[in-house]
Amino acid sequence: MLSSRQLFLNHVAQTSPFPLALEVHNAKGIYMFGSKNKKWIDIISGIGVSNVGHRHPKVIKAIQKQLKKYMHLMVYGEFIQTPQVLLATALSKTFPATLGESFLDKKNENYNADIAQNATYFVNSGSEAVEGAIKLAKRFTKRTQLIGCHNAYHGSTHAALSLGTSKEWKEPFLPLLPDIDHINFNEEAHLSKITEKTAAVIIETVQGEGGVRIPEKSYLQTLRKKCTETGTILICDEIQCGFGRTGKLWAFEHFDIIPDIVVAAKAMGGGMPIGAFMASQQMMACLSDNPILGHISTFGGHPVSCVASLATLKVIQEEKLLDSIEEKHELFKKLLSPKTTKAIKEFRGIGLMLAVEFESFEFLQKVIAHCLDLGLLSDWFLYCDNSMRIAPPLIITKKEIKKACKIILEAIQLTEE
Ligand code: PMP
Repeated sequence: MLSSRQLFLNHVAQTSPFPLALEVHNAKGIYMFGSKNKKWIDIISGIGVSNVGHRHPKVIKAIQKQLKKYMHLMVYGEFIQTPQVLLATALSKTFPATLGESFLDKKNENYNADIAQNATYFVNSGSEAVEGAIKLAKRFTKRTQLIGCHNAYHGSTHAALSLGTSKEWKEPFLPLLPDIDHINFNEEAHLSKITEKTAAVIIETVQGEGGVRIPEKSYLQTLRKKCTETGTILICDEIQCGFGRTGKLWAFEHFDIIPDIVVAAKAMGGGMPIGAFMASQQMMACLSDNPILGHISTFGGHPVSCVASLATLKVIQEEKLLDSIEEKHELFKKLLSPKTTKAIKEFRGIGLMLAVEFESFEFLQKVIAHCLDLGLLSDWFLYCDNSMRIAPPLIITKKEIKKACKIILEAIQLTEE
């Protein structure tokens, strides 16, 4: 009989030439459990997904309740699905104002300056959310040019690949989308590329796969200004940095800017698949005010995912999870700084979106392997392979942070021996 590992490798198509193929039987909170009493601290939250921990009881309860009512009904529009309504209403209020201020028709009879009038288009993943956002931007502005940032990751579809810059990732799939340009992240001089021809600029508010790169506040504010001046839509990709990861619900809140479109996924579903692009009701209306449909997604806004997402949002808000993030950040910083060991070259991050840099990919690979043996699951970044990804569930306690850092430091020591 073939082992489950062999069956997995034979029949589940792989995305990587060296899959870890770890067997996990159960996951709860910050832990994953395997056979023979194996237990790992999940220090990466399934890559920025389990922000409220694995199988949060309130998320499970919401899912179970919904399962007794209905699952899929119909591509949305045909039926009012209460989970979608409740989630979209709650999401609208998470923004400080109506998105896309400069595009609003304030004379419109439905316009109300006192409430956030935002709408959410639900999809299934981050890549699909990016896809929908750029379609909305093109359709709304009637322009074609799109601008992305160097070292960005927006997903794996053709459009998302086009907006990123990794040459080797793009090469086998050329030609990709036309009329795309790129600017250096966090470099003001490059903003002159944004003109009246640009439909949208898409930027990760904090770059994730680039290895946790935090822009200057002044950079994002100048970008915001340039977009407003040229009538360009500013899309913030909050797929990895949103939903509390940086210590604020949305990372853009750190920089005092308001984007025109926000894309989210990953942690949004509390472990269930969901993605979304969000904009003002007025901007979003252009997807439906024309006989040619704007975007279609059979499963977008799946009611089970929506209740899980709403429960996740409530856990973050009602349990005041974000209040302790700064303190937890400081503890990681203290325990994993270059001052702790010379093997650590740099500690970067914001909130609990962290990167610990080592001299090389080879060194980090050994540290990660030792961590796994010692009971901690970690990772590197797609475009920054000498840095360890640290993005634990936000519910991690200070005692657990100390335990996790102790494992990482021990793994470093074993690597150095
Ligand atoms: N944007 C960012 C910033 C991401 O980190 C990711 C996923 N790593 C995506 C988009 C794509 O999301 P998905 O894998 O759900 O398509």
